Amino acid sequence: MAQVYNWQLGREMEYPYEGAYPQEQFAFVFNINRCIACQTCTMACKSTWTFSKGQEFMWWNNVESKPYGGYPQFWDMKLLQMIEQVNPGGQEWDASKGNGTGKPYGVYGGMTIFEAALKKYGPEGAQRALGYLPPDEEWSAPNIYEDTPKGVKGEPNLLNREGASLPEHGTWFFYLQRLCNHCTYPGCVAACPRKAIYKRPEDGIVLIDQSRCRGYRKCVEGCPYKKPMFRATTRVSEKCIACYPRIEGKDPLTGNVPTETRCMAACVGKIRLQGLVKLNPDGSWKEDRYNPLYYLVKVEKVALPLYSVFGTQPNGYYIPPRWVPRAYLMQMFGPGVDEAIEKYTAPSRELLAVLQLFRTTQKMIYSYKIEEGKKVYETTINGRKWEMYNDTVIGLGKNGKEVIRTTVEEPFYDRPNKHANSI
Ligand code: SF4
Ligand code: SF4
Repeated sequence: MAQVYNWQLGREMEYPYEGAYPQEQFAFVFNINRCIACQTCTMACKSTWTFSKGQEFMWWNNVESKPYGGYPQFWDMKLLQMIEQVNPGGQEWDASKGNGTGKPYGVYGGMTIFEAALKKYGPEGAQRALGYLPPDEEWSAPNIYEDTPKGVKGEPNLLNREGASLPEHGTWFFYLQRLCNHCTYPGCVAACPRKAIYKRPEDGIVLIDQSRCRGYRKCVEGCPYKKPMFRATTRVSEKCIACYPRIEGKDPLTGNVPTETRCMAACVGKIRLQGLVKLNPDGSWKEDRYNPLYYLVKVEKVALPLYSVFGTQPNGYYIPPRWVPRAYLMQMFGPGVDEAIEKYTAPSRELLAVLQLFRTTQKMIYSYKIEEGKKVYETTINGRKWEMYNDTVIGLGKNGKEVIRTTVEEPFYDRPNKHANSI
């Protein structure tokens, strides 16, 4: 195995191939706090890419209810348990070693799926990525246990009525929005014996070459997020293609400019922001201060990678939900959770403006600028004074031209006294 640097883990790790990095990387930030599980994103994807025979069970985008739900069922818990069996008690972070952007969350001392695989020999020898193949019934529903909360420990169906206040609720659940993370060190690429999966050099989108795939399902086994899926009618595997014609600006419906994917553009809750981040030749993020993704992940550190401990360096980031017990969130998002929630709870003036950009336009936003407005509100949050300004945030497209302009305060529209549909 080669040694590659995984900045999300703050250390080098083993990976079957040398690092090879695109010029720009497809990435996204989801604000979990705002999702209403309407599944509009899920259906936008389904009706675009997976509506054909043999794809009935496929949901490249799904929104699941945590902690119990999962598609496939228990995908995360099963894998965490497998790693724990290989390296008992070893999955620990040292957050004190955190520094700047090279090790933003500290150093992970546990094992990734690539490292754990070397310690576990099956009938075929060592795997390249520790994983498993879910049985058919575990793919049966994209949001099983919908809205089922975690209640009092050890007492099924008993809700904790006392613990219903922030910062953490005694009874809780939340929605987790998932699609392929177009990882920097993909488990699917590592696992494929046919070298049928590749990462595009221009935007880091991970694709399965349908003509090379022979349907061995090693990608299904090796992806920790379980996002490649096997199609029985064609006997090859398929996965999210990040709506690449839209990213390339080749979708005639959207005016031939780089456009967000279908799931992002359809989001009713305005929780999603997707774009491209620029990379250095060594795979680290090039400084790009006014790219909203760079700002949210690297400057404010309000958005965190999902299960970075698996080691694939996923390119999907999440603003964690405020009301969920921290221990659970730290298992999912690592040691940056406290800081992220603190920043989100009392957002800086700039953060509040940037949060307004989510889902304001289908066009991809490459950078932003802010025009300052008047102070409109003042309160106290966690014992500290907090002020709100009605700033205007302007999103700029690839060519630097304005694609969206909005304010922190939602604008009012006064309807005229007489209108056609009044009753
Ligand atoms: S999420 Fe899974 S399918 Fe997508 S790139 Fe990562 S390992 Fe591959
Ligand atoms: S469309 Fe947006 S709000 Fe609705 S389920 Fe999807 S991510 Fe959540």
